[in-house]
Amino acid sequence: MRLVWKSLVFCILVVAAAVSAGAAPKAVVNEIRVAEHSDRTRFVLDLTDRVDFSVFTLADPYRIVVDFPEMAWKIDPAVAQSGTGLMKGFRFGLFKPGHSRMVIDLTKPAAVANKFLLPPEGQRRYRLVLDLVATERAAYLKSAGWPEAAKPDEAAPGDDIEVDPTAAKPKRAKRVIVIDPGHGGVDPGATGVSGVLEKDLVLSVSLAVRDALERTGRYTVVMSRDTDVFLSLKARVAVGRRAKADLFISIHADSAPSEKARGASIYTLSERASDREAERLARAENQSDVIAGVDLTNESDIVTSILIDLAQRETKNSAAKFAQALVPELQRVGGVRQKSHRFAGFRVLKAPDVPSVLLELGYLSNSLDESEMRTGRWKSAMAGAISVAVDRYFKSSRPEHKAESDR
Ligand SMILES: [Zn+2]
Repeated sequence: MRLVWKSLVFCILVVAAAVSAGAAPKAVVNEIRVAEHSDRTRFVLDLTDRVDFSVFTLADPYRIVVDFPEMAWKIDPAVAQSGTGLMKGFRFGLFKPGHSRMVIDLTKPAAVANKFLLPPEGQRRYRLVLDLVATERAAYLKSAGWPEAAKPDEAAPGDDIEVDPTAAKPKRAKRVIVIDPGHGGVDPGATGVSGVLEKDLVLSVSLAVRDALERTGRYTVVMSRDTDVFLSLKARVAVGRRAKADLFISIHADSAPSEKARGASIYTLSERASDREAERLARAENQSDVIAGVDLTNESDIVTSILIDLAQRETKNSAAKFAQALVPELQRVGGVRQKSHRFAGFRVLKAPDVPSVLLELGYLSNSLDESEMRTGRWKSAMAGAISVAVDRYFKSSRPEHKAESDR
């Protein structure tokens, strides 16, 4: 009898540990319906389980943010892109581990008149209902803002890392390279002509790049993300700085107003853009945090002192050298833009001490580019091209510690 009790207590402990470790089943969102009524726009989410949720609004641009525990979204992303009534479109996905988010873009100021969870009824499981009604800007601004609980706890990771322009990179057996797949989670990035999402495409290419680099045996690769999760631009920069990376490569796929635009291009940091298109692109890529509803109010610009300026000049030169090494390799893979190396003010490239480049693989708005980029053959060719360019870059740049031992 005692043994039975013991094993029962043990079972309870195991179950309790599993629950506290977050092993509880995730709620699944099976359907999202948006209906236009005469005085309101109604959102209904069909859920398998009861969930806690919180709602807040943000201005400029007008957005409604709904936070949930981590959920699985069995929703075709295409349903989120057509607007109706007060809604321009919406996005959903992982904001960070354990925390899912939906962001509704509004065409004009709107208040959340009702928000409630309906219990199961007949065939239906739980339903979350949100009613949006039009309001004035002044009233909207009064209630808009981040609630204390939603304030990001990602408070400037990496911002506190000192910059010493005279310091040599640490001596390491292998070079450290950060691969940064753009977007993720609640931020899907651009959408391709056939519906492929930038966040998914760039993740699969980035994983192929990681494998190609690791196969050489010469590099340690750090991924900023290797799952479908959102990461703020600042957090991406911090990944490179914390790793004291020798090179940071952010990987994206562009979408242009013109369907004809094709080919890859590579970007490095500059406060002044090289051309109008580079400027448009940087503006679009810098929107990632806004898209995901990240609090930017306490964002400090890390490019402040002269010391940082010095470090950054060196870093920018190195980034430009890598860009030059990459262009001919991209040409071997396929289409490259005429002006393949461009400059603009990309936030994600702002680490003062890590040479950083942003690679746009091609255009999701072009059907030829899109279908090619989805093939395994193209992905491995691109990964190989990047790996060769990385080799060439490190061979040509004589690092300080190497130079010392050569003397
Ligand atoms: Zn992008």
